Amino acid sequence: HAKNCGKNNAKLYSSSLTMQIMSHVKLEVGLRKALQNDELYLLYQPQLDVRSNEIVGVEALIRWRHAERGVVSPTEFIPLAEETGLIVPIGEWVLRTACNQARIWQRPGRRPLRVAVNLSAKQFKDENLSQIVLSALHDTGLDPRLLELELTEGTLMDDAKATLATLEQLRGIGVYLSIDDFGTGYSSMNYLKRFDVRALKIDRSFISGLPQDSENAAITRAIIAMAHGLKMVVVAEGVETGEQLVMLEEYGCDLVQGFYLGRPAPADSVTGMLQATPKIWLPLSAK
Ligand code: C2E
Ligand code: MG
Ligand code: MG
Ligand code: MG
Repeated sequence: HAKNCGKNNAKLYSSSLTMQIMSHVKLEVGLRKALQNDELYLLYQPQLDVRSNEIVGVEALIRWRHAERGVVSPTEFIPLAEETGLIVPIGEWVLRTACNQARIWQRPGRRPLRVAVNLSAKQFKDENLSQIVLSALHDTGLDPRLLELELTEGTLMDDAKATLATLEQLRGIGVYLSIDDFGTGYSSMNYLKRFDVRALKIDRSFISGLPQDSENAAITRAIIAMAHGLKMVVVAEGVETGEQLVMLEEYGCDLVQGFYLGRPAPADSVTGMLQATPKIWLPLSAK
């Protein structure tokens, strides 16, 4: 009896594994067609300059509108895109679309808006990266200083020599470089100094417990102090409450991003936000 039971379990297990593999394969086949079928789109999340109280940037975040599954999260398909190499054409599409939108947002008399694009490790290692970035900027006419490329600690730590060479090329183009999810990966302070990146984005896991969590508060303050000591800009990710915003303002954080200021939204909604009065963002502050 026990033997039978085990067999059944094994069968059950293997059939659910088969299903997992099948849905993985199906997702991969779907992802291959997603670009040509126009199923990918970008949302933009605003970034507020705490001192000037102005929206100075947006982060582009990809979504996949799947015919059967509905909207698929990038946390689900970006890893698959990386595995299959599809991240390279998809990443190029993201760059071009985001640059084009940033160019559309540029208006005389309006403060220029920087657009941040997430780069995966595989894109960063692609030997054509700087050519792809250059042609996206050239074709859209966007000022390179208005394009931010977000890298992760893992991407930077991979191969120091190649990393330095790629960063050198990107700096030569004049784009703005930042480290995403800072504090969650492996990063040596020595590398931070050598890499000469403009901004650090504090991971939202450190922000989420604020203002109560005293350990996360200490880490957040330390990251801000270190970044400023290195003449870097600090961005807090995942700001969800006014209290968090006030605390980060007190700590001297430069920019904030999170649901409190706005969820990732279609370009048109962001255009509306840019036209709205910005004073609503700091309700608790004496500003
Ligand atoms: P990320 O680059 O760290 O982006 C921030 C994520 O946090 C976004 O999730 C955003 O929607 C979410 N978020 C923003 N504010 C809040 C908040 O206040 N609370 C909470 N709980 N979450 C907040 P999303 O859009 O699902 O993207 C997840 C990740 O997928 C991104 O993390 C990024 O690593 C990756 N990703 C997104 N778009 C792209 C892309 O175009 N290319 C690549 N390579 N990766 C992308
Ligand atoms: Mg990011
Ligand atoms: Mg990330
Ligand atoms: Mg992040």
